[in-house]
Amino acid sequence: QIAEWKKLRELPTVSKDGVHVELAANIGTPNDVAGVLENGGEGVGLYRTEFLYMGRSELPSEEVQFNAYKTVLEKMEGKPVVVRTLDIGGDKELPYLDLPKEMNPFLGFRAVRLCLERTDIFRTQLRALLRASTFGNLRIMFPMIATLDEFRQAKALLTEEKEKLTAEGVKVSDSIQLGIMVEIPSTAVLADHFAKEVDFFSIGTNDLIQYTMAADRMNERVSYLYQPYNPAILRLVKMVIDAAHKEGRWAGMCGEMAGDATAIPLLLGLGLDEFSMSATSILPARSQISRLSKAEMKELAEQALQMQTAEEVVELVRGIGQ
Ligand code: PEP
Ligand code: MG
Repeated sequence: QIAEWKKLRELPTVSKDGVHVELAANIGTPNDVAGVLENGGEGVGLYRTEFLYMGRSELPSEEVQFNAYKTVLEKMEGKPVVVRTLDIGGDKELPYLDLPKEMNPFLGFRAVRLCLERTDIFRTQLRALLRASTFGNLRIMFPMIATLDEFRQAKALLTEEKEKLTAEGVKVSDSIQLGIMVEIPSTAVLADHFAKEVDFFSIGTNDLIQYTMAADRMNERVSYLYQPYNPAILRLVKMVIDAAHKEGRWAGMCGEMAGDATAIPLLLGLGLDEFSMSATSILPARSQISRLSKAEMKELAEQALQMQTAEEVVELVRGIGQ
């Protein structure tokens, strides 16, 4: 099996019936890029930039950020790199920001909500990203988008920073794709509207599941409700993918579900274009997908969407292509 994975390292990801999908990796620091390439990643589907902000006593400067983004883009040698803007709050705190304690941090002041208020922090990150954009294939993604207005505000700040840099004579790439994480049910439900304004979606199932099921992803006592295979989740995923395709956009997934061997047949059948996962899951996933027919998985997914419970779905898909 290991020999087969080695061979697959250099190959694209193609289903048994000849459909290409992209397998990318989730990373937290520039040091993770080596593992992505060793495991045959076709890109970075999620660079969680919050680690740049954590474990230090003050905000990272524009220069510190620029260097980190540039390093990742260069090491990926033109392969796509989706950088997610700061997603702090929720379970991830920054002591030096001195934010008040909240009753429900996962429903509170986090990610893009914080960035739209602390525009000083956000603008610094956007400038660093724009300056790094000429060193590779940069895609920018906003986390925790709940409304169209949030997306438009964030995009406007990006456009402003781009214009400022250009006026200063700094070169910025003209082909930066701009997307959002779909991890809040309101955004999945309105995906048809969002698809007219974004270049891509990346479905964040870690949060989408917790918000759809109203079950804290860290709370053991309600973990029985944390159900990736609940047909409600599958229907939301389908809505997002269909909405993207209707507008000629691509849809990826960067939550844990994207690398889960039980979920992969369903996600392939639902038409997911990009799967972003931990680097070590890439070769097993590529091997599994090579044994699956997308046309057959489409039928399987249609059956799953009609089921009543997560257990029935798991029963239907368990072991397929593994
Ligand atoms: C997600 O919510 O699925 C996701 C990928 O983001 P994070 O796990 O960083 O919240
Ligand atoms: Mg998330």
